[in-house]
Amino acid sequence: SLTVFETAAPMTEVPGYFEDTRHAAELLSSIINEAEKQQELKSNGRLAELDGPPEIECKNVHFYFPGEARPTLTDVSLRLPSGSKTAIVGPSGSGKSTLLHLLLKLYPPSSGTIRIQGQDLAHLDEDQLWKNISPVLQGNHFFYGSVRENLRLAGDNISDDKMNEVLSYVKLDHLSVDSVVLEKGANLSGGEKQRLAIARAMLKKGSLLLLDEPTSSVDPITQQRVMNRLFTGAKDNTIVLISHNLTGLEHMDQIIVMDQGRIIESGTFQELMEMRGGYFYRMKMIENGIWGQVQ
Ligand code: ATP
Repeated sequence: SLTVFETAAPMTEVPGYFEDTRHAAELLSSIINEAEKQQELKSNGRLAELDGPPEIECKNVHFYFPGEARPTLTDVSLRLPSGSKTAIVGPSGSGKSTLLHLLLKLYPPSSGTIRIQGQDLAHLDEDQLWKNISPVLQGNHFFYGSVRENLRLAGDNISDDKMNEVLSYVKLDHLSVDSVVLEKGANLSGGEKQRLAIARAMLKKGSLLLLDEPTSSVDPITQQRVMNRLFTGAKDNTIVLISHNLTGLEHMDQIIVMDQGRIIESGTFQELMEMRGGYFYRMKMIENGIWGQVQ
């Protein structure tokens, strides 16, 4: 059988997701748009519909970036029940975004399986998968055009009124649907770009929300308001949130702590805080500014 390393995708198959905005926009468009292939998929009967918020299960997932000798993910196993809210935390470079990209099927696991609603991702058509996912990823996934055109990636039939309502939810009332967005959102601040990406995710009717540090450049007051609105609107959805900010994680069903590509702790906020000396506990103490005293 193939070794873990040999099963990694060759370099040419890895999407140039971060480098090429046009490709990113196209990819996001596929993720966000209602798939044209729907009819085709239905007729060949290869896939069952993902209806309702999906359960996700990763089993012994290992992942190597092509050409890398060291694994980026090592033996990751987790279960995200349907409708559950999960936070992924951990130091920079620990593999959080990579795990999210695997859930989006942007890369295949080198070994192990990822199942959504019991179906192996390997056998799921990307369009079928992506139409169920509302992603807010890192990067500037905007193209030159109006706010309307950029938001329309969430769906073709969204009215201006609906867009304006959502722009207000994310505190972008100063933009109109006709405002011009430059390539990569160059004329927007970091926080505005993030909130516009959140607006797009809110407009998308996906039952799985994948959020990669969606408000890291947003001030705390706006952040709280936007996140509350996002979570209220998505209360029945399965949500995965990558965050460096531990505030508010008390409300998540599950917190997964990653370090060097491995899951090192998992549980509820309460459970992780009870592990004195654990990674999460220490991060929380530092965030509270009292680590020096409890060390
Ligand atoms: P952060 O909190 O800083 O966003 P992260 O936990 O999300 O970090 P990842 O972005 O998943 O971490 O990166 C995990 C590791 O994989 C890092 O060591 C990174 O350098 C490496 N890595 C990321 N993308 C690639 C790539 N395309 N090719 C090779 N290595 C990569």
